[in-house]
Amino acid sequence: MTTPSPVWHPFTQHGLGEPIPLIDRAEGARIYDALGNSWIDAISSWWVTTHGHAHPRIMAAIREQSEKLDQLIFAGWTHEPAETLAAELVRITPDPLTRVFFSDSGSTSVEVALKMALGYWANVGADRSRILVLEHSYHGDTIGAMSVGERGVFNRPYQPLLFDVGTIPFPHEGREQEALDALEAACREKPAAFIVEPLILGAGGMLVYPAWVLAEMRAICARHDVLFIADEVMTGWGRTGTRFACDQAGVIPDILCLSKGLTGGAVPLAVTLCIEPIFAAHLSEDRARLFYHSSSYTANPIACAAANANLAIWRDEPVQARIDALADAQAAHLAMLAAHPRVANARRLGTIAALDVVATDTGYLSNLAPRLTAFYRDRGVLLRPLGNSIYVMPPYCTTADELAEVWQSIAVSLDEITR
Ligand code: PMP
Repeated sequence: MTTPSPVWHPFTQHGLGEPIPLIDRAEGARIYDALGNSWIDAISSWWVTTHGHAHPRIMAAIREQSEKLDQLIFAGWTHEPAETLAAELVRITPDPLTRVFFSDSGSTSVEVALKMALGYWANVGADRSRILVLEHSYHGDTIGAMSVGERGVFNRPYQPLLFDVGTIPFPHEGREQEALDALEAACREKPAAFIVEPLILGAGGMLVYPAWVLAEMRAICARHDVLFIADEVMTGWGRTGTRFACDQAGVIPDILCLSKGLTGGAVPLAVTLCIEPIFAAHLSEDRARLFYHSSSYTANPIACAAANANLAIWRDEPVQARIDALADAQAAHLAMLAAHPRVANARRLGTIAALDVVATDTGYLSNLAPRLTAFYRDRGVLLRPLGNSIYVMPPYCTTADELAEVWQSIAVSLDEITR
């Protein structure tokens, strides 16, 4: 975009003269501008377009729903797309998760989870409000979601507004027990809840930890009656190799946050599922315990229809086979770069592959990530490294040739940019 624009972009340093491509359409793993240039969307447009852009069934569902019912106040009214979706979500998640609360983004699904947890304890008459979090976590950019995430340059000005939390050290390899012991000790203080990104911390740098650690964390919380909140906003919908990351650890959370791939990435929607006792604690004849949370677009019918189409795709198409094939291809490409002198910590979980660039200046304010991002953009690839961590998280429909092109551009960047 060369003309001055009033748009203020997220996570974008304006004023540096960086070009901002004007995208016109998208299909599958590719986005296109009006001039015919195209880019491979190797991060699924911020981890959302699981089946690729413009999946025909999701597009059709949106078109059909928009001709019937566009929007409806969801307090005291309901509609078929939301009812179908909620029933199906309850069916495909573990039995103890019985209730579905709708919202619009990953951040709001986390806000809802935190409010459910605090509401539960307040309504059962217990003085428990402290939240435990895992070091390096990211749960969104609203004030509550930032409060339970890592403190850093990106939230420095807002820190006076962020509430205090108990931080459990990340379970680095060889130091897992240390983290588990810290969680157990913190749980003895009777906090309200522990919130965690299962198996992989996303925006914190694609940090992976093993399933047995997640299972142990869950068991510790259960032992101490601490509510266990799984934030599967990024990990949900097959990203980590299984539909939900918790499945790999046999973990059943008390509260589950889902968004991003919920609609196949076409329109915004989020849900927070919870166990029956949390819902039941919000019942009272005098209405004093009802759950005070809503937003205008809660359970928008068009978004729910898109989500129902996503679930139909999971039912009818070989989604798991696509995920397995993509995971294998990612592993093969990563293996070819793992021994590169500029590469450290090559890691993969399901369809997510990541590596760290060995460089002198790797902090969040270093120029490395913006330079790499521009390098890929100029070569027809949409990648957006986190600090010095390059990660590839493409749609499940990405072809072998497209994936090879992505990894080829990473290989070249390691030689050229970091020289
Ligand atoms: N939780 C996790 C684990 C996330 O990765 C994200 C987004 N990257 C969020 C919450 C926030 O989601 P949103 O950007 O839709 O608000």
